[in-house]
Amino acid sequence: MTGIRVGQGFDVHRFTSPEEHRPLLLMGCEIPHDRGLVGHSDADVMLHALMDALLGAAGLGDIGQHFPDTDPAFKGADSAQLLQRVMGDLAERGWQVVNADVCLIGERPKIGPHRQRMRDRVAPILGVPSESLNVKATTTEKLGFTGRGEGLAAQAVVLIQRG
Ligand SMILES: [Zn+2]
Repeated sequence: MTGIRVGQGFDVHRFTSPEEHRPLLLMGCEIPHDRGLVGHSDADVMLHALMDALLGAAGLGDIGQHFPDTDPAFKGADSAQLLQRVMGDLAERGWQVVNADVCLIGERPKIGPHRQRMRDRVAPILGVPSESLNVKATTTEKLGFTGRGEGLAAQAVVLIQRG
């Protein structure tokens, strides 16, 4: 079967307290910030949204099914490695990524200075040039849980193809 498919993903993680000193990981990159994110894995909210978009496009469910947060094997898991496994599942079925667009939702940290590093880190895992992986961010105008700085959300959209 040939064709193109689209998928979307969304994820949310709560910030730790500043005393916990958990590193903040976004798109597989450590980002300097006074707080990390709470999660069973490394809590990389942007990669989680991206994986859900990829699994969705391929009709393979969601990351909760593939990497259950009740499974001790995934405690502290490196989300970049989980993304590699998702890409393996897609490749087995003949799917390749065309492009991806990932959006971080929150007031802080600002990711502008880290945007290219994030693209350079994740694009090779997706098997695309870095210009085919867009990374962007928005605030919620200080409204809601992201506006109050309680956590971060991320959305992703991907297009995949097989020929
Ligand atoms: Zn997550």
